[in-house]
Amino acid sequence: MTATLRTRAVHAGRDDLTDLGVHAAPLDLSTTYPSRDSVDEAGRIDEFAATGALSGLPVYGRLSNPTVERFEKALAELEGFDDAVAFATGMAAVSASLLAAVAQGKRHVVAVRPVYGCTDHMLTSGLLGTEVTWADPEDVASALRPDTGLVLLETPANPTLREVDIAEIVSAAGEVPMLVDNTFATPVLQRPGRHGARFVLHSATKFLGGHGDVMGGVVACGAEDAGMLRQIRFATGGVLHPLAGYMLLRGLSTLPLRVNAASATAAELVERLRGHANVSAVHYPGIGGPLIAFEVDGDPHALIGAVRLITPAVSLGSVDSLIQHPASISHRIVAEDDRRGAGVTDRLIRMSVGLEDVEDLWHDLDQALKAC
Ligand SMILES: *Cc1c(COP(=O)(O)O)cnc(C)c1O
Repeated sequence: MTATLRTRAVHAGRDDLTDLGVHAAPLDLSTTYPSRDSVDEAGRIDEFAATGALSGLPVYGRLSNPTVERFEKALAELEGFDDAVAFATGMAAVSASLLAAVAQGKRHVVAVRPVYGCTDHMLTSGLLGTEVTWADPEDVASALRPDTGLVLLETPANPTLREVDIAEIVSAAGEVPMLVDNTFATPVLQRPGRHGARFVLHSATKFLGGHGDVMGGVVACGAEDAGMLRQIRFATGGVLHPLAGYMLLRGLSTLPLRVNAASATAAELVERLRGHANVSAVHYPGIGGPLIAFEVDGDPHALIGAVRLITPAVSLGSVDSLIQHPASISHRIVAEDDRRGAGVTDRLIRMSVGLEDVEDLWHDLDQALKAC
């Protein structure tokens, strides 16, 4: 019998600990790894340069770290991939994924809006030498060019929670690899690899860490793609700190419990919000999840100022509930027309439901809604 995701989340990346005689995963803070055999080290560096994989002992902290590798292995397993590569932040993971396409001479990217504000900005600005075509899901196939290196998608999307059929876009993309940002759904609710996505990206800062105290990013993919991403990480330096790797591995063990509990609370809040006089629209994905988006009939800034239990802050995926106004914060960097075109209205509020009691959350939301 294969263990369920809930079970694997607890044990993934830790299967060797009993044989090592330790209970907690070892935290290796080394920046470098001594060796008296520089001939052997030269061989291993050549291997890394050729494949992006490193066998045997680590060499230097920018190539690999054993604690970070535990997190990578565990996340890869939960997403159903052979490998994963961790980065300093979600945006470092997005950057490396774009650079992987550019490095292969394919600088054109097709992307579906909305996406996270900084991802939108990175693509629109062409900062990394990419050129973007924004396409609706039905126009992805016709937006492809011979130099298209990546199709990029978020579902449910940040911040409107718009859902896109992953398999349909994979089929429209044909030979072009597809990257799905799975930050909102997490592998608990959706595994895009099953539908043909070649890269699955997370801002690990959100649900994977889960406690609002660690930043990270990660891309799950096949072994060959992982080698490419590791070479880019080595060259550009966006490594995940080993302590962050330790904390993210610990976060994974409670991920299914946290996501399922917060999703149940969110579903109940959605029901109540739909009946609230000061709410004009509620967006909630068909696959569920801890994120809610809604439009207020009144001043959204007054709502943010009036919450007392819910934390008025950008970000998501923490044990405490967070609320923010995307047009002011998470998507501020996106030009106003593009933002509105993607459905991010000035009345839209995004809430990340945490682990508090549903009645306490509702009490706070209700009094804050009355204030606006
Ligand atoms: C937050 C976020 C990112 C960026 O992650 P950082 O860890 O903040 O760099 C990327 N995608 C989505 C969907 C996000 O919510």
